[in-house]
Amino acid sequence: MKQIQTNCAYCGVGCGISVSAAAQTGVAVSPSICTLKGDADHPANFGHLCQKGERLLDTLPLPHALRYPRLANAAATLSWDDATDLVAEKFASTIAQYGADSVAFYLSGQLLTEDYYVANKLAKGFWGTANVDTNSRLCMSSAVSAHIRAFGEDVVPGCYQDFELADVVVLVGANTAWTHPVLFQRILRARESHGTKLVVIDPRRTATARQADLHLAISPDSDLWLFSLLFKKLHQSSAVNPAYLEAHTDGLTNALTNLDNWLAADSDVLAYCGISQLQFDQLLALYRDHKAVLTASCMGVNQSIHGTDTTNAIINCHLLNGDIGKPGRGFFSLTGQPNAMGGREVGGLATQLANHLGFAEDERALVADFWGSDNIATHAGVSALDMFQAMADGKIKAVWIMATNPLASLPDSTLVQKALETCPFVVVSDISSDTDTARMADLLLPAQGWSEKSGTTTNCERRITRQRAFITSKGEAKADWWMVAEVAKKMGYAGFDYASAADIFREFAALSAKVKQAYPHKQLDLAKFAELSDADYDALKPQQWPLSADRNPRVYSYGEFSFTDGRARFVTPALVDTHYTAEQLLLISGRSRDQWHTRTRTGHVAQLVSHEQQPCVYAHSSTISALQLVEGQMVALTSPVGGELLLQLMADDALQANQLFMAMHWTGRETGSFSVNQLLDTRRDPVSKQPAFKGQPVTITSR
Ligand code: SF4
Repeated sequence: MKQIQTNCAYCGVGCGISVSAAAQTGVAVSPSICTLKGDADHPANFGHLCQKGERLLDTLPLPHALRYPRLANAAATLSWDDATDLVAEKFASTIAQYGADSVAFYLSGQLLTEDYYVANKLAKGFWGTANVDTNSRLCMSSAVSAHIRAFGEDVVPGCYQDFELADVVVLVGANTAWTHPVLFQRILRARESHGTKLVVIDPRRTATARQADLHLAISPDSDLWLFSLLFKKLHQSSAVNPAYLEAHTDGLTNALTNLDNWLAADSDVLAYCGISQLQFDQLLALYRDHKAVLTASCMGVNQSIHGTDTTNAIINCHLLNGDIGKPGRGFFSLTGQPNAMGGREVGGLATQLANHLGFAEDERALVADFWGSDNIATHAGVSALDMFQAMADGKIKAVWIMATNPLASLPDSTLVQKALETCPFVVVSDISSDTDTARMADLLLPAQGWSEKSGTTTNCERRITRQRAFITSKGEAKADWWMVAEVAKKMGYAGFDYASAADIFREFAALSAKVKQAYPHKQLDLAKFAELSDADYDALKPQQWPLSADRNPRVYSYGEFSFTDGRARFVTPALVDTHYTAEQLLLISGRSRDQWHTRTRTGHVAQLVSHEQQPCVYAHSSTISALQLVEGQMVALTSPVGGELLLQLMADDALQANQLFMAMHWTGRETGSFSVNQLLDTRRDPVSKQPAFKGQPVTITSR
């Protein structure tokens, strides 16, 4: 039996997996001769896996797996040579006729870092457009923007061990028991061993909230007010470190003045948040009276029009006491996807260039010189929603969508459908031909999926892990980076002659070394890997960046931040908008326990389907009675955006009155129309451009 160490394909915890394959050398021919278990040596999970991770082999082989390049609705397949010729010709002629900003990539946190790197290099370095965005925009871009505003760089300062070292763990807008289960188990084990206090701030009484010592069921989208009030009260308390503030931060006085200008009286804030004075005092005491408090946030914070401001309000609370980068203390952003972090590192967002650089003249010059490019993008590109709007408006005329299903996962499905219909050339590379988006592609390219592909990912705590192939690809599926490099070479660009993922990883590491040399305050530093041999890359053990000599798993521990003056910033809100009324029925969407994204990989596994077998909408039993509806009946959900979803109504008293919940995973396949997102408008955070997926006003009627 051959042992292969790889990692899980799902969430940002990034658990290590050990696969046993009945093959002496190379890779196995079939999943049926493999077994898997958690990797006992991986520092993210120490051998533990959740239900989804344990069932990964059951997802293989994938139904409707895409195995050969082909044109839409054509029975005959294309050769890779013809398919990449076609992509190169279409993108080149579109750029020649309409300019560089008429083309785009839409990427995914499912891609490996090497895939992301090559796509970003082609578009930003050689096409001359930064129209490269990703479904990570929907996941954690508000945290990215907040990190940049507070620290000067998109850096998660802490590590998983902090969840075990904290006296108090505060989870905000995070159903961690379901969305990051192995990390949640670590929190529970720490609580058992030394009594960690667990606070959950979430409108719903989720599986996570049910385990909490204190659950604050706040009103949707009121967390900005809650943490702003907390910041004010902590500043008036003993939980302040004046020496740290003086030596390592900037902007405190402005932040406090700004608060005075917009924050209402305490009682009004608490009424808006829907919590009592006693509950707030309990929260304040936990922050004030414990040395080690860790606040972690997830989609409930990020997917809001206030996502960036709320994250900065949380960071403000921790900066007061000098918590950042200290064991068991500070702020931690929980990332949804397995490689959202890796994508961010190499420039997967339209608002960044590469390696955490922006579009300033000196930053562009450094990257252009390194890539040998004379056509580097001059400005940020369009972010996810604007990209699809530009397609619908006829401005983007060729798009390459990789490893994601935006017709189901973006808000306002009608707009996305129009975008895909209007755009003259839509390429989709994916593992499945049976997604809402793949069905609208002009050209389908078969991508290798988990078990077949090889490269690296970065998890929530900045830990790079090798994902390794252990099964031979069926048909002609290829690595995403290979497809992009083939197209780049056919368009006549130099610098894409990669023989392997290791070549790309070394180049990324070498670029990080150049960046660190030019901007010593930047933390993303993989210089040590620039000369890695192929054998060392193959054997690479999980490692956190930066690869510091003291092996400190935390960043900013010494109060030196990424701004050129080394100081962190207190940041005040860009947008203060109380946009809900008490009478509105608000729809919250989120993950269910056992499914993943739009069910492409998990929707056919019996054990993963049993938890929720059909599309349902949930409401508190009092809401059901007040609406004169009955549990179990069919209802129609509509919103001002248009369209209607027919669903079964189920009671769930974890919700507050006037709240509805629907899982995000169901797509047109099951609903007959689109996903929950067809009801959502395109409200977004003004800083991060992350869509607000939570709290859409809707109407529910009997059917
Ligand atoms: Fe996979 Fe996340 Fe579960 Fe770990 S916690 S096994 S990474 S889904």
